[in-house]
Parts: sequence; C-alpha cells; structure tokens
Amino acid sequence: MIDLTHLNTLQVPAKAKDLILLKSPKDLKKLRVDEPYMFLGLGANVLFTKDFPGTIVKIDLKGKKIISENDEEVMVEIAAGENWHDFVTWAVENNWSGVENLALIPGTVGAAAVGNIGAYRQEVKTSILNVQCSIPNTSQAEIFNNSACQFAYRESFFKHHKEYLVTAVQFGLSKNSTPKAAYEETIKIRTEKLPDWTKIPTAGSFFKNPIITNAQCSMLNAQIKDLQTYPTENPDLIKVPAGKLLDELGWKGKKIGSVSTHDKSALVIINLGGASGAEIFDYSEKMRADIKKNFDIDLEYEVLIV
Ligand SMILES: Cc1cc2nc3c(=O)[nH]c(=O)nc-3n(C[C@H](O)[C@H](O)[C@H](O)COP(=O)(O)OP(=O)(O)OC[C@H]3O[C@@H](n4cnc5c(N)ncnc54)[C@H](O)[C@@H]3O)c2cc1C
Repeated sequence: MIDLTHLNTLQVPAKAKDLILLKSPKDLKKLRVDEPYMFLGLGANVLFTKDFPGTIVKIDLKGKKIISENDEEVMVEIAAGENWHDFVTWAVENNWSGVENLALIPGTVGAAAVGNIGAYRQEVKTSILNVQCSIPNTSQAEIFNNSACQFAYRESFFKHHKEYLVTAVQFGLSKNSTPKAAYEETIKIRTEKLPDWTKIPTAGSFFKNPIITNAQCSMLNAQIKDLQTYPTENPDLIKVPAGKLLDELGWKGKKIGSVSTHDKSALVIINLGGASGAEIFDYSEKMRADIKKNFDIDLEYEVLIV
C-alpha cells in the first residue's frame, strides 16, 4: 500500500493500492483501467475520507513553451504537472497579463483547468484557449477549445468526466498591460488572509459560495447585517459568501477534536494535527447541517471528497 499523507495538503493519512508517477502521457500504458484510478496533482483540493482502492496517478508532466506571439499577445502551452504559481510568476516576469490575480493558488496547471480556479473576481477560464487531454487505454489525444471545456464557477467538463487526463493547457496572455502590481498585491493579501499550507494542513475553501435566488437573498439580508453579495451571469441569481454565513454561526476558529477552521476564515478547514479524513468530513457535515438549519441553504463541496 502507498501512503498518501504527503500527497494531499490536508495531510490525511490515507493509503492507495498503487501509485504511478506520470512523467509522460505514454506512462498511462502502465495503468490498469479495469481497477479504480484517480489523477492527482498536488492534492490541494481533495479530502481522502478512506483508503483509495486503486491506483493514484500523480501528474508530473513538465514543460512550458511559446506557441505563437505578436505585439499584442502571446500563446503559451504549459504541461499539466507544472506548478501553477510558478507559471503565474513566469508570465508576470515576462510582462504577460491574464493570470496575475490567481497568484499563490496551490496546485498544478492541469488541475487549475479542471477546477476553473478563481480568486478576486478572476477565473482561469478567461485565459484558457485550449486544453489537451488523453484517455487511458486509447492512443488518442484530444484538444478541447474553451467552449468545449464547459467552464463555470469551479466547474468544467473534466470534473465530470474523470477518465480524461489533462496533459497540457494553452493560455492566451496579453502584452498590453503590466501585471506586476496586481501580482504583488494578490500575494500580499493571500499571505495575510490564508494559512500557509506547507505549515498548516488545509485544502483552502471547503465549500463553494452558494448561488441563491433574489427572494432567498432578501431573507438572508434580514438575518445577516452587512452581507456582501455578488452578481452572476443570471440576473435572477446572486452569489453569497459561504465564509460569512459560517462566520455568522460561530464557525470561525471553532475546534472539534483535531479539526478547526482558520482564525481568519470560517470557510478554510485546517487539520490541527493527526486528524483523519473521516473526522474532517464529519466536521464539514456539521457545518453544512448548521447552514441548512439556519439559512435553508445546501452548501456544495468545493473540495473533492474521495
Ligand atoms: C491554502 C489554499 C488556498 C486555495 N485557494 C484557492 C483559490 O483561491 N481559488 C481556487 O480556485 N482554489 C483554491 N484552492 C484549491 C486548490 O489550490 C485548487 O483547486 C488547485 O487547482 C488544486 O490543484 P491540485 O494540483 O492540488 O489538484 P488536486 O487536488 O490534485 O486535484 C483536484 C482535482 O483535479 C483532478 N486532476 C488533477 N490533475 C488532473 C489532470 N492533469 N487531469 C485530469 N484531472 C486532474 C483530480 O483528480 C481531482 O479531481 C486553495 C487550496 C489551498 C490549500
């Protein structure tokens, strides 16, 4: 059995039957597709609640290249196993903008596309041109253009078709503005507000921000003072911050056994040391039940529960 404790940022001590370190898409040939398998990047968006009864395929595909450029923009192709923040830093150093607000998000480039990562009103979907994929047991590579990826809030086609391995992502970045100030500001804010996952085990925001109707929002406004709301593409629906709802119910810094939330955000669950995945899951279910009881809202997991 393979120990996964250091392959997930919550440092949950789960095990898997086998591990393949994928350095080339050709390594997929080693995978037995008649048994369960799961692709894994840094493990910054997963909670293992039990041992995994199959093979973990850890994505270690590396490489960055310029595909084309002109005076206005550049198209780059980044392998799925590249570190996301290193890619953002490389773009900023070259004075290419488009991903600077997404600095310091832990994880890999492939998973960034799978989860359509976002922060500070920027989502990665706005910079993605194409996503390259392979499917185990087939020799074919497939290219998805932006609309085929079906991106939405923390959603994509790949999230629901787990047989697709993202091998590389092509981004379009602009040469028309300077990203450095926004990049530095993002790093400053994130360093102040979020735990350093290399020291405090966490998977970041545990739940998505709920999207509710105008009528539900009026009821919430009557219950919660100074509730910030965000418009969505649908004028009848409004996004509200899950962290604020949890904070209102006293979840910020609330400790149960070896699990707590971060003292600066009720949405960020942390492992205080030695918590099992099942314990963290129980804690998160208590949060969901509390939100349901008090606000009649079903919180959706942002973290993948395995
Ligand atoms: C401190 C902290 C802060 C965070 N802040 C943010 C934030 O601001 N915004 C945000 O959006 N997220 C945030 N996250 C969540 C996390 O960083 C992102 O979801 C990130 O993209 C996860 O990358 P990963 O490589 O760790 O993916 P993993 O957790 O390894 O995998 C996530 C999912 O993607 C799949 N997957 C991974 N790689 C591939 C691939 N190549 N092909 C197909 N499927 C694949 C996995 O099977 C799994 O379903 C934060 C996490 C932490 C710990």
